[in-house]
Amino acid sequence: MNVKNYKQKLLDELYKPYIKCMQCPLGGLGRTKVVFGAGNPDSKIMFIGEAPGAKEDELGLPFVGRSGQLLTRALNKLNVQRDDVFITNIVKCRPPNNRLPLPIESTTCKSILLFNQIKIIRPKIICTLGSHALNSLYDKVFQITKCRGKQHEFDGIVVIPTYHPAYVLRNPVSGKHFLEDIKCALELAEMIK
Ligand code: SF4
Repeated sequence: MNVKNYKQKLLDELYKPYIKCMQCPLGGLGRTKVVFGAGNPDSKIMFIGEAPGAKEDELGLPFVGRSGQLLTRALNKLNVQRDDVFITNIVKCRPPNNRLPLPIESTTCKSILLFNQIKIIRPKIICTLGSHALNSLYDKVFQITKCRGKQHEFDGIVVIPTYHPAYVLRNPVSGKHFLEDIKCALELAEMIK
């Protein structure tokens, strides 16, 4: 079995007990599907957002709504396909009315799923999408406008924070910085030159 298939097997084993997860309040607040993540399990880069939205909840896939399409377009502009990267969120279930995940929800979910996904995939680079994903990863409050595009470190992995694509949709002027940050992350991951 090659490394990619082996890592996928480990991810499938990780997900199996949580297909109907009720470990945090989001399990009982109307979610349809647990959205674990998608993409290459042996990717050099992981994108981490905040939480699934309506489309993601319906399809069981991360970043497939308008925000996801913007992220996919940014990757494609840089000659990277969505399937080449791994995409997930801090929490795997949709919060009602797209509210922000509560600290108890983020803490519980990342400890059982996200941190284990990172251990299995071991990417070179993590690119966080939006301030909530960044703050939740570190349990610390950052100012996204000040730290975006700069190198941070998490568990020996370089982290490049950028804006959430939903923010870019609302503030098209930030699109230039968003693309620059994605490019920087992909260069550091050695996925583009
Ligand atoms: S958000 Fe995470 S911890 Fe909470 S119910 Fe969903 S999978 Fe379980």
